[in-house]
Amino acid sequence: MLGKNPIRVQEKGDGLNLWVQEVFYTLQGEGPFVGRPSVFVRLGGCNLACYFCDTDFESSTWKPDIDELLMRIKDELRSAPQADCKLIVLTGGEPLRQNIVPLVTALVDMGLTVQLETNGTLYQDLPWCDQIHVVCSPKTSGLNTSLVPYVDAYKYVLKAGEIDEEDGLPCGSTKLSGRPEHIARPEHSALSEHNARLERSSRSAVPAVYVMPLDEQDDAKNYANTQACVDVALKHGYRLTLQTHKLLGVR
Ligand code: SF4
Repeated sequence: MLGKNPIRVQEKGDGLNLWVQEVFYTLQGEGPFVGRPSVFVRLGGCNLACYFCDTDFESSTWKPDIDELLMRIKDELRSAPQADCKLIVLTGGEPLRQNIVPLVTALVDMGLTVQLETNGTLYQDLPWCDQIHVVCSPKTSGLNTSLVPYVDAYKYVLKAGEIDEEDGLPCGSTKLSGRPEHIARPEHSALSEHNARLERSSRSAVPAVYVMPLDEQDDAKNYANTQACVDVALKHGYRLTLQTHKLLGVR
C-alpha cells in the first residue's frame, strides 16, 4: 500500500459479516509465535496509512458471513491434519477496525489460540482470556488506553537513523519518511496493570518488546536497519525478530 491506502474508520457493524482480504495456512514469520504453523486471516482496510506498508489489504471484494469464514478457517486447519494447528493470526490492515467479537468468540469456543496483530489505536470488548494474545506494533504517538492492559508484546519497526538514543525505540513518523515523531511506548502505569493480570495467569509477567528492521526494498538500507536492531537489542535487552517469511520465501 506504501501509504496510498484510504484511511478507513472503525466500523460499528454486528461482526456477522467481515471484509476479508485472504485466509491462508502458513508459518508465522515474526514476533512471539515465529515459526509456528498458523492460519492467517487478513482483514480488509486500515485506519492508518504508513509510508512503508507493503501489505495488500484493500483489493479483496470478499465479505463472507461468519459461518462461511469459519468454514474457510476450518478448511485451512484440515489441510494439514498432522500439524494439529491451533493458532489463528488475525491481522490486516487493522483487525480491530471491524467488529471481530463474534469471530474471536467462536474461535476461542473452538479451543483455538488467537493472535491479534494490531497497531494499538483501536479497542473492542473481546472475550479476554488466556487464548487471546495481543501483539501491538505502535505506529502513532498514542495508544488506545483500553487496549494497553491486554498487550502481550510490543513489536517496533526500526529504521537506522530514526531511533531514540535513550530507549532504542523509533522516533520517526510512519506517515512521512524522514519526519520526526515520538512513537508510543509502553507506559509504566499500564504495564503495572498488565503485569498484575499476567501474574494471575500462567503467562510470563513482563510483556516483551521486539524490534524488527524496516524493509526498505534496498539491500544496503535493510542491512543498516538490521544492524541497528542488533545494536538496540543488545543494548536494551529487547528481542530481535526478523521477517523470516520474506527471508525464506514463505507466504
Ligand atoms: S498500521 Fe500496519 S497495516 Fe496499517 S498501514 Fe500501517 S503498517 Fe500497514
